[in-house]
Amino acid sequence: MAKKQFKTESKRIMDLMINSIYTNKEIFLRELISNASDAIDKLYFRSLTDDSVGMARSDFKIRLSADKAARTLTVSDNGVGMTREELDNNLGTIARSGSLEFVNNLEQGKENDIDIIGQFGVGFYSAFMVADKVTVISRAFGAEQAYKWESAGADGYTITEAQKDGHGTDIILHIKPNAQEEEYDEFLDQYRLQGLIKRYSDYIRYPIVMQMTQSRKKEDSEEYESYTEDKTLNSMVPLWKRNKKEIKQEDYESFYKEKFYDYEKPLRVIHQQAEGTTSFQALLFVPGRADFNFYSKDFQRGLELYSSGVKIMDKCADLLPEYFGFIKGVVDSEDLSLNISREMLQHDRQLKVIANALEKRIKKELAEMLEKDRENYEKFWKAFGLSLKFGIYRAYGMNKEELQDLLLFRRASDGKPVTLREYRDAMPAEQKYIYYAAGENADKLALLPQCELVRDKGYDILFLTDEVDEFLMQLLQKYDEKEFRSVSSGDLGLESEQEKSEIEEKAKENKPLFDFMKECLGDKVAEVTLSARLKTHPVCLSSKGALSIEMEKVLNSMPNPDKVKAERVLEINGDHPIFETLKNLYETDKEKIKTYSELLYDQALLIEGLSIEDPVKFSNAVCALMK
Ligand code: ADP
Repeated sequence: MAKKQFKTESKRIMDLMINSIYTNKEIFLRELISNASDAIDKLYFRSLTDDSVGMARSDFKIRLSADKAARTLTVSDNGVGMTREELDNNLGTIARSGSLEFVNNLEQGKENDIDIIGQFGVGFYSAFMVADKVTVISRAFGAEQAYKWESAGADGYTITEAQKDGHGTDIILHIKPNAQEEEYDEFLDQYRLQGLIKRYSDYIRYPIVMQMTQSRKKEDSEEYESYTEDKTLNSMVPLWKRNKKEIKQEDYESFYKEKFYDYEKPLRVIHQQAEGTTSFQALLFVPGRADFNFYSKDFQRGLELYSSGVKIMDKCADLLPEYFGFIKGVVDSEDLSLNISREMLQHDRQLKVIANALEKRIKKELAEMLEKDRENYEKFWKAFGLSLKFGIYRAYGMNKEELQDLLLFRRASDGKPVTLREYRDAMPAEQKYIYYAAGENADKLALLPQCELVRDKGYDILFLTDEVDEFLMQLLQKYDEKEFRSVSSGDLGLESEQEKSEIEEKAKENKPLFDFMKECLGDKVAEVTLSARLKTHPVCLSSKGALSIEMEKVLNSMPNPDKVKAERVLEINGDHPIFETLKNLYETDKEKIKTYSELLYDQALLIEGLSIEDPVKFSNAVCALMK
């Protein structure tokens, strides 16, 4: 019988499993049980709409049997089973996108820590951590013929015809012999297996049965006898259906870790048991970190959806708004009709009612976390803040009322993240605007000349360091009646009426100088003016109009052939000695003003973190001055 080859990625995963130094080998059982339960779900789901299936809920079970003499452990289910093609496709190729990603990362040498495989849920292949040969005998529901899939390692597998009564799948693990450092006998021990089921698979909704050998006292005698009996190992009541009062925090946490493959505990657990016109149970989690692909197009958000305890969907995206896509969890409702197609489900009224209730609840929980559990909220923000920002941005600001109070920005004064409310409440009475500065990072922003005068007035500044931030500010426009204002554009409203007219006067007086400088710089700038935002620095760049220099940087860094340009204004500090020099030169040596204008402009560019057009010319001009 010719061996078939595994697909490349599958082979990689198999190699890894076979030679695994992963310490937590026991998770293989959880993976196989979960596959068995999914296979039963599929058939049970079908039986609800198709009478010819002829199975009742109580007919389904998963059986575990260990044979110490033969060194085999078998996991059997009476679910849908697999056809020959399905055996070939499903077990010869990697099904989970997570595993694939894991292998890719490994190949690129990104993951050194083998222990992270726990978070990917490697599925069926994990069997090879404890078995040196795996035999799968399966008969698809409705088929006459059963097939046997068998593999003893990464060099391939065979598929042959087989005998099997009834539909379903038997996964037979030929448990590895004990080696020096590794003991495998434990996976044949009934108590150890019982413990593993309790630990990882207690909430599986179908009975997991094992024949256990126990001993009891003989009647009317002091002697003991052993007897065997089928025992159901799992309690079958899903955690979300249990009474909240009886659930410990650790129960939630370990449920989360096992189910969603996270080694960290969640930042918050939301257990909602709603009764009413639409009743449902939801068990939701705010994770402590983003999935490796969370911010990529591949990420699939959604909650696991059950109807009366039967899984109908793995990731129901319609239950969550996009900006809460980081939430993981399970929703179960008796009010969802089971015989509804997935396409119809999208338009289901009950589902919408549940989604709305969840959205409200999540918002409330996040707000509460922000208020009472700041440390965790900040951790949450680090991982998922961008998701909320995009939530406002992508909806053109439509969600702003809902989400703006959940936003955090670092403030200049002490570098701490603050809410808009906190910033607003700390504003001195006379402060006109909510100031912000946008740039690469807080350290660079703190050095920006434009920040100096604002800070000097005792006003704080929000530092915006995400690319989306400034666009977001434009959508928000104001918070609690106070407009947002960039320190780098427009009027900052810092001067008194008198100071203002003094500046205007001075600007008017020197208009010919500024116009001349603008002429020297050509279309590099839209204007040269006297600055009202500088204190000790000689120059800075600001912008006119809707597009800021930061926004220009962001937009031009994107793959887009049409480059944009902000309307730049070169601002000169009227209190700086350089201004007197310029004034004098305007009377005596206009040629020099040309060089100085270019030098000042280049300096302003450097301060903004922009590159200068002609660095050699700049350097030569500086040297000429030093002579
Ligand atoms: P996943 O369960 O994430 O899809 P696995 O590698 O664990 O990935 O399984 C691959 C596929 O093999 C499953 O999607 C399923 O179609 C099939 N499969 C595995 N175990 C069973 C089973 N006990 N009964 C029926 N099909 C199964």
